[in-house]
Amino acid sequence: MVKRGREFLHTPGPTNIPDRLLNAMHRPAMDFASPEFSAMAAQLFEDMRGLFQTSSQVFLYTSSGHGGWEGAFVNCFSPGDTVLLPEIGRFGRVWGDMAERLGLKVVRVPGSWRHPIDAAVIEDVLTKDKDHLIKGVLAVHVETATGAISDMPAIRRAIDASNHPALLICDAIASFGCVPLPMEDWGIDVVIAASQKGLMLPPGLGMCAVSEKALAASFESRSQMEYFSWPQRLKTESYSRFCGTAPEHLVFGLIEALKMLEEEGMPQVFARHTRLANAVRKAAEVWSQAGALELNILAPDARADSLTVVRTPEGMTSDIIRSTARDTFHVAMGGGLGDLAGRVFRIGHMGDLNEPMIIGALGGIEAALQVCQVPIVKGGVGAAVDYLASTAQT
Ligand SMILES: *Cc1c(COP(=O)(O)O)cnc(C)c1O
Repeated sequence: MVKRGREFLHTPGPTNIPDRLLNAMHRPAMDFASPEFSAMAAQLFEDMRGLFQTSSQVFLYTSSGHGGWEGAFVNCFSPGDTVLLPEIGRFGRVWGDMAERLGLKVVRVPGSWRHPIDAAVIEDVLTKDKDHLIKGVLAVHVETATGAISDMPAIRRAIDASNHPALLICDAIASFGCVPLPMEDWGIDVVIAASQKGLMLPPGLGMCAVSEKALAASFESRSQMEYFSWPQRLKTESYSRFCGTAPEHLVFGLIEALKMLEEEGMPQVFARHTRLANAVRKAAEVWSQAGALELNILAPDARADSLTVVRTPEGMTSDIIRSTARDTFHVAMGGGLGDLAGRVFRIGHMGDLNEPMIIGALGGIEAALQVCQVPIVKGGVGAAVDYLASTAQT
């Protein structure tokens, strides 16, 4: 099939790679031992601490986000340790599965896949854990399977209220660079991120930003680890920092991505995400007025600014909407995962996006809904346009 024009990428990762980042990576490889690369890497690690808002350490793995997950587990815990997992979606679920395969005991507290994490549950479980057997609390910030954002400060307060020493580990893969997450202020011990979502890069970098307390735990860990070990990476030369050859081109890209974020200003980046997310939600709300579609997350303040998850009617598989949007209207979205397989479509809106891209994507989706004969109230796109017009900074 001949294709013309841009495909609109609204999967919740990978996200659009701006031309500027592609260009920054379009350069020859270099000697990683050269003073030039060493200085670039050293500055990058320094700047990453600023981005994560921590005075402690940031570790970069040449991996997917899963590498960040594994890095957090093996460094913070030892086989046989117990962790607490409030489970409100598929990403949390499979994160817990990984913990189990690594030998951890996972206390799962199943919650609704239409709500964020309930901090009260965490306080309750930790308060009852008088012997402090639970070594860590695992919290997914934006649950990409459901579209929920959880209140990290509330989770921190719950841990403090129970006077419990557990580490707070946050999967921020779908939130980092999209919404505020000042890790030190919020008392988070490990923030896990990845390159291909809010940071607008190709997949290939998994990240762990680590508090002093989590770093200290890594020196006590009895896990078998080598590549993922934080203590091993606490060296200055880039070969050790990356445990081998640095992923140079991702480093070039990440340096440029940080420049782009800094130029725009993080408050502005976050505000742009909120505004574009609001536009998507306006459209989805109009479509939903016919009673067939519905936003998956019930409480408006728990709807993430990184993606919007829309439920499809009982008896209809959402896959047809997704494939029609992609194949006929050139808008790629995410499908349903886990318990929501076939029940939702997920519109990613993180990273390098602006108004016409969102309007275009919504137009393609609205057309696909019509082709699939989903009962909708038309005019979702118009509502998004009206919202963007009424909130424009001129
Ligand atoms: C995308 C995502 C992951 C997985 O990241 P990979 O790079 O595919 O390993 C994990 N958690 C959340 C919340 C995500 O959105």
